[in-house]
Amino acid sequence: MEKRLRLAPSPTGLFHIGTARTALFNWLYAKKIGGKFLIRIEDTDFLRSKSEYTKNILEGLKWLGLKWDEEPIKQSDRISIHKSYIKKLLECGAAYRCFATDDEITELREEQKKKGLPPKHDNRHRSLSKEEIETFISQGRTSVIRFKIEENIQITWIDQIKGEIKWQGKDLGGDLVLSRRAKGYEIGDPLYNLAVVIDDNYMNITHVIRGEDHISNTAKQILIYEALDLKLPTFSHTPLILNLEGKKLSKRDCVTSIDEFKDMGYLPEALTNYMAFLGWSPKSADSEILSLDKISKIFDLSDINKAGAKFSWEKLNWINSQYIKKMESTKLSEIIKKYWDDMGWEPPSEEWAIKLTILLRDSMNLLKDAIDQSKPFFLLPPIQKEGKDFLENNDSKAFLKNILDYLDERNTVKLDKEKATEILNEISKMHNIKKGILMKSLRIAFFGCLSGPDLIQSWELLSESKSDLSRIERCLN
Ligand code: GLU
Repeated sequence: MEKRLRLAPSPTGLFHIGTARTALFNWLYAKKIGGKFLIRIEDTDFLRSKSEYTKNILEGLKWLGLKWDEEPIKQSDRISIHKSYIKKLLECGAAYRCFATDDEITELREEQKKKGLPPKHDNRHRSLSKEEIETFISQGRTSVIRFKIEENIQITWIDQIKGEIKWQGKDLGGDLVLSRRAKGYEIGDPLYNLAVVIDDNYMNITHVIRGEDHISNTAKQILIYEALDLKLPTFSHTPLILNLEGKKLSKRDCVTSIDEFKDMGYLPEALTNYMAFLGWSPKSADSEILSLDKISKIFDLSDINKAGAKFSWEKLNWINSQYIKKMESTKLSEIIKKYWDDMGWEPPSEEWAIKLTILLRDSMNLLKDAIDQSKPFFLLPPIQKEGKDFLENNDSKAFLKNILDYLDERNTVKLDKEKATEILNEISKMHNIKKGILMKSLRIAFFGCLSGPDLIQSWELLSESKSDLSRIERCLN
């Protein structure tokens, strides 16, 4: 039988890291078992669902490299089918109309609250007579459809991640609402738990992998599967992503949407690599830097942790830096050039852009770091206090003058690394200056401070952009 997995996002917000990780686990497992990865857009919450969020989710999946295998399904296209199943449940007596008003339900909740009890419906309309129903309808009351959940049953399943899970009927909050309010004998729009069962069945989903916040929904859904005599998929509930304090990762933790990660300069390959290890501890991985393809070969649900996974920026940054280091330099340079373009910075040549990319990439965590790190190659950096002190307290100015004179006498304009090294060696010998001090002086002239990228390579680049001499000259006055 074909193995079929799905992501069923609700388009009520931007593509969230939690949903992305669920997508990734589904995608990886589908690849691992030779199955298909499908998408169903759960857009039946008409007030909160927006087509721009659907677009954002699909674009985010594409950006991450998680391709789906069939045209995505829209839940809202299937409402009449959901309703026909609700009708079936009504007809077989597994569901009934409940006419309790919002006020009556609020009153019940208040009473329960006073007694310190959890919210639970009291199933008051489970056995209404035909006459009672008629009366409610004639009073103009609307009704929802509720699915009967017996108090004394136990729902058990073998979760592929958590192992055996047992849930008691009495802990499911009373009879389950399947549809929104409707007038007369109409059936209102279907709600999540009903629609999921019908659609997973329609899509022939064999494996459901989703966040552990859905565990109690699974218990309810299993009862609906059974009442309709539908084939059950296997269920796997993944641990949630937590912040460093151990609470569910939320907007307060700075970024949570995939777009934001993209804008901050994370590479999709790095983000998926990081997300895969969020809650997954493979026995057989020899490195934490693994492509999706490699991960999919060793991925197994049994290696997913039961406990929540803490999100670490430090680890993500490290993984991102590893991908930046490994990236083909022309490709990386193309990305970095877009940032330069936004800043209005123009590299003197293609070759120069690639050389600067290579020079900077080892110290970059994020693609965006390229802006700050390449800035001193485009704009003259001011001389900072440590630089000024150094120039005053050493014979730096004289040394810098030696360099200028040397270049002037020999009419040296464009330098390469070898030439720059040779010049420094010669000047240090000619004037008996320690090479270290000579280099520090030059560094201050170029960057205004004592830290920065490799000096010789920087000199080569600054000489090509014709700003090395003026940077040295400014220190002499
Ligand atoms: N629409 C649900 C969500 O976004 C899907 C849950 C499921 O996978 O069944 O949480």
